[in-house]
Amino acid sequence: MIVETVQSRGVTDVRVLGAMANVPRHEFIPSHLQTQAYSDQPLPLCEGQTISQPYIVALMTALAELGSSDRCLEIGTGSGYQTAVLAELCASVFTIEIREALGQSAQARLSLLGYTPSRICCKIGDGYAGWPEFAPFDAVILTAAPTRVPMTLLTQLAPYGRLIAPIGPADKIQRLEKWVRRRSTNRLADFDRTHVLNVQFVPMQSAAEIGNQETS
Ligand code: SAH
Repeated sequence: MIVETVQSRGVTDVRVLGAMANVPRHEFIPSHLQTQAYSDQPLPLCEGQTISQPYIVALMTALAELGSSDRCLEIGTGSGYQTAVLAELCASVFTIEIREALGQSAQARLSLLGYTPSRICCKIGDGYAGWPEFAPFDAVILTAAPTRVPMTLLTQLAPYGRLIAPIGPADKIQRLEKWVRRRSTNRLADFDRTHVLNVQFVPMQSAAEIGNQETS
C-alpha cells in the first residue's frame, strides 16, 4: 500500500521501494492510531514529535543514494521508522535522539524487529554535535529542522557524501535541501546545495532548549 502511494508520487527507485515494503510502519505508530499506519500522512508520537509521512521518508531515503556498504548518520530517531528504512539499504545506521524516552523506546523497538547494534547504533544526545567517533558518513539525514545547515554535520561527510535536511524556522515552511561534499576542505563553498521542495518538520532543538521545556 505504501509502495503504491510513494511510487505514484514519483519515488521510483526500486531499492527504496523494496526497503519501504520491508518495514512494517504499524510497529512504529502509537496503538490508538493503528488504522492510519499506512495512510500517507505524518502521525503524532509523544512529546509533540511526529513520524514523517511515508512519501517524505521515501524521498529523503532516495536522495541519500545509499549503497550497500555505506554508513549513514541520522539525526532525530523519533519512532525509529526512518532509521529502519535506511538500515534496509546500507551497512550501518548511527542514529541520535535528543529525547531520552523516545530514543529508548525506538532502540527497544528496533532491537525487537531484529536490527542488531551493528546495523543500527542508537544514542541519546544532541545531534548538533554529530557523531565524530564514527565519522565520516556517506550520508547524513536530519529529520528535524535546524534554521541553518549545521557545519559540524557537513564536516562529518565523506567525499561525495550527501546530507539531506529540512532547513528553516520552526512552524514555517522549510526547504528540503541536499548538500553534496565536492572537496575535502570545510567551507560552505565546498558543498553543492540543491533545494528539493518545501516541507514542514518539527524543529531541531538544542539540549538547553529541551532542558528548559522540561523545567518550565
Ligand atoms: N524520523 C523520525 C521522525 C522524528 S521527528 C521517525 O521516523 O519517526 C524528529 C525527531 O528529532 C524528534 O524525535 C526530536 O526529539 C528529534 N530531535 C530534535 N532536535 C534534536 C537534536 N538536536 N538532536 C537529536 N534529535 C533531535
